[in-house]
Amino acid sequence: MIALPTKPRVMPMRRCFFYCVTLFFLATSAAHAQSDDGFGDALKIEGEHFNIYYKSHIALEGLLKQLSVSPADEMLSKQSIDTSSLERTISSKVEVLFNRAGDILDMHVYSFQGSIKIFPSMKDMTDYYNTRFHANLPCTGYAFYSPDDKSIYVSADNFRREVLGHEIGHAIMSGYFVVQPSMKVQEVLAGYVEYQLRKSE
Ligand SMILES: [Zn+2]
Repeated sequence: MIALPTKPRVMPMRRCFFYCVTLFFLATSAAHAQSDDGFGDALKIEGEHFNIYYKSHIALEGLLKQLSVSPADEMLSKQSIDTSSLERTISSKVEVLFNRAGDILDMHVYSFQGSIKIFPSMKDMTDYYNTRFHANLPCTGYAFYSPDDKSIYVSADNFRREVLGHEIGHAIMSGYFVVQPSMKVQEVLAGYVEYQLRKSE
């Protein structure tokens, strides 16, 4: 279990690169090795580009507080945040992030439809990763994107603007390119999304 930092930690680019390349390679090579991710009975928030799945004991208030999508994000994405309920607020903020990432990358995949699956803890996510890929999740890992099921996997304590922005960047690229660029290029671009979001905190 990773302790909740008081400030989002900046992942060193070299370490992040190693981590994400490893994840992407393993995810791609394990196309037929998926296992039940345990979200069959999870609660679901439907969204335009992402359906969000989470366990009933995860507090939405905490997720929303951590997400910290700002009024500047809302303005830059030209998309309003729906505050009619906690569920709609979280979903619309994720959609704002999707638009921000698309603008930062200058890649717009309007038809994209994927999932964000939120594990209660980092250990739950790590255990799932170990089972699915028969490998250890690098200890610096916050989240990962699986192109096989178009899902971002993240733990509740890392449901954060920059972490999600980075993974949404991977999701956008996987839908944008017919022929996928090298992992190195994808990692640089996802890191660029994360960097731009951190810069505008
Ligand atoms: Zn990455």
